[in-house]
Amino acid sequence: ADESTVTITVVGASGDLAKKKIFPALFALYYEDCLPEHFTIFGYARSKMTDAELRNIVSRTLTCRIDKRENCSEKMEQFLSRCFYHSGQYDSQQNFVELDKKLKEHEPNFVASSGWKGCKSTFLLIDPTKHIRRCRKICASLSASAAASGWTRVIVEKPFGRDSDSSAALTRALKQYLEEDQIFRIDHYLGKELVENLSVLRFSNLIFEPLWSRQYIRNVQLIFSEDFGTEGRGGYFDHYGIIRDIMQNHLLQILALFAMETPVSLDAEDIRNEKVKVLRSMKTIRIDDVVIGQYKSHTKGGVSYPGYTDDKTVPKDSLTPTFAAAALFIDNARWDGVPFLMKAGKALHNRRAEIRVQFRHVPGNLYNRNFGTDLDRATNELVIRVQPDEAIYLKINNKVPGLGMRLDRSNLNLLYKARYSKEIPDAYERLLLDAIEGERRLFIRSDELDAAWSLFTPVLKELEEKKIIPEYYPYGSRGPVGAHYLAARYNVKWGDIGVDE
Ligand code: NAP
Repeated sequence: ADESTVTITVVGASGDLAKKKIFPALFALYYEDCLPEHFTIFGYARSKMTDAELRNIVSRTLTCRIDKRENCSEKMEQFLSRCFYHSGQYDSQQNFVELDKKLKEHEPNFVASSGWKGCKSTFLLIDPTKHIRRCRKICASLSASAAASGWTRVIVEKPFGRDSDSSAALTRALKQYLEEDQIFRIDHYLGKELVENLSVLRFSNLIFEPLWSRQYIRNVQLIFSEDFGTEGRGGYFDHYGIIRDIMQNHLLQILALFAMETPVSLDAEDIRNEKVKVLRSMKTIRIDDVVIGQYKSHTKGGVSYPGYTDDKTVPKDSLTPTFAAAALFIDNARWDGVPFLMKAGKALHNRRAEIRVQFRHVPGNLYNRNFGTDLDRATNELVIRVQPDEAIYLKINNKVPGLGMRLDRSNLNLLYKARYSKEIPDAYERLLLDAIEGERRLFIRSDELDAAWSLFTPVLKELEEKKIIPEYYPYGSRGPVGAHYLAARYNVKWGDIGVDE
């Protein structure tokens, strides 16, 4: 019965994420026959809306994959007929009781008659840090009705606090009514295809794991860039900044997965245990190892691009970083002394998320003289491009064909769109499916979150207390030069800036 009936409640259904990601992902799962046979989706928010209005909004964002266009509109109609809406306050027990009543009305007959218990997945899409009290109320209502359910799970979106204290307060609020295994904190980067593949690449290919340590790896780079700014949505961002928005969660999660020891199994707890160990082995981040920047207006080709503080929702004197670079270190036997460099920014020259692994130089390389003085050019580099154009490529030194002995650096290239004809599912599809199936591997456990905040909170506090002025960089540029000096301090060159790009 657990598998066959589920009600999915989307709290905050009138918002952007519900429309943009959650409903389209649920539809994709429905289309792929991944949802239980009997499912009902209820949107819930304060905005007044009828079922028909919700369906109308949702219908505009549903798409079928290119290879699955058959019966597309028919499937959409069937899906939308399972979507309903209930308007209510987030802190009203009464409104949630009404919702519960409606949910029951939509349960298939056999549930009540056979005594089977329907299951509940609830997506909390209201900012949990800003609305902590409301979240507690919602969890209280859910737990009150949980006794009548097969299982109740709550999927929570970021931000999970803005420092150790506020994150701990949110966790306490959630745990007042829910058990750890009922809480699914989403970091959508963990649902990305190439991030999931990281462990496959490393643990199921003989050629990588033996090299995965300080002995052969010189540095690891985790890079995120967007080619647009906050564009009128800076109000939320200004309270957090790029370190909290991208580094403390998405990039740090990738780092932990990348650097963890071999887990005992692929079981969620085994993997998360190893990730926590990495986070807890990390050295405190020194303020000298952090560079912050903020984009300023720039005119290019007759077009002018606004600066961060030109955004009407951002205070004019804001020092919030829209760019940051940092050097992090893991104090354990495998990674001692290896810099893990992170770089994240908005309004840069491109849009990209990638992991770059630079290997050490070949000792006593016979071909050194072919590289001149720039031995870095001879370094092998493994690049895992998470987005866009998913790819894994390895830069190797190769002889240029011909009679002479000229070497160049070429790519062994696995470009996903060339290799796999299948469209890659959105990260939310995988995460929502996992949450519905109770698979916790890709969700953040409370102790992981604590460890992540312990790492970043001191340096964030210091940056704010000392009112460190960010280095200003033009919209659409490669970001502050300070990032290069930071890398150079550890003898590193950012791999995404080079002659062979
Ligand atoms: P949103 O559009 O700003 O709002 C989501 C919901 O919150 C709305 O349906 C709205 O419902 C309710 N809400 C807005 N202001 C409120 C207030 N002052 N008091 C009470 N409720 C309020 O947010 P979103 O973009 O959908 O994001 C939802 C969650 O996902 C947030 O926690 C966000 O940080 C996270 N997230 C979003 C994205 C994204 O791309 N959008 C990406 C990653 C994470 P009613 O006003 O109708 O009640």
